[in-house]
Amino acid sequence: MKRLAVYCGSAPGADPAFADATRDLGVVMAERGIDLVYGGGKLGLMGIIADTVLEHGGKVYGVIPDALVAHEVAHQGCTELFTVTTMHERKAKMTELCDAFVALPGGIGTLDELFEAWTWNALGYHAQPFCLLNVNGFWDELAGFMDHVVDSGFLSDARRAQLLKADSPAAAIDLLDAAVESAAQGVTW
Ligand code: AMP
Repeated sequence: MKRLAVYCGSAPGADPAFADATRDLGVVMAERGIDLVYGGGKLGLMGIIADTVLEHGGKVYGVIPDALVAHEVAHQGCTELFTVTTMHERKAKMTELCDAFVALPGGIGTLDELFEAWTWNALGYHAQPFCLLNVNGFWDELAGFMDHVVDSGFLSDARRAQLLKADSPAAAIDLLDAAVESAAQGVTW
């Protein structure tokens, strides 16, 4: 894995552990030579992940819609900042740039991005894996809800199993590395 797309809150969140885990992820990425693809913002966990990767010598590729640039929330320190015109274009560009996705805690933007990555994979538009970084159990209810979706007959066990979950940044990267390897061999992780 050379480039990891990180989806995360544009707010820091209520638990300081969210920011701590975001910094940890940035450090582990830089140590392992994995560059960052993200939404190009400077606020909240988004700003923290970009700053940390840059501070530790990694490259940061931001992809941001022009409307958000106009609101001055773009991170001007990115190695490369791609400005796009729509949110759809943004997600397509981020998907094109990355080898895998990880979701840190976040709100509806993060959820939208996570579910689009999953849906597009299910429909065969890309083969990249995705993982929840479960800081202090933040994603437990979502994981439980997805089990309910399986029980309700709307999602197969195999598709459900694609949503990886890890408790630490290093564990998330290990899971995604293995999944990228499987996907390269045409095997679903
Ligand atoms: P949320 O989880 O609702 O805070 O939204 C964060 C996600 O949506 C990020 O991964 C971004 O790609 C996108 N996003 C939402 N708000 C912003 C913002 N102010 N600046 C940049 N990207 C944002």
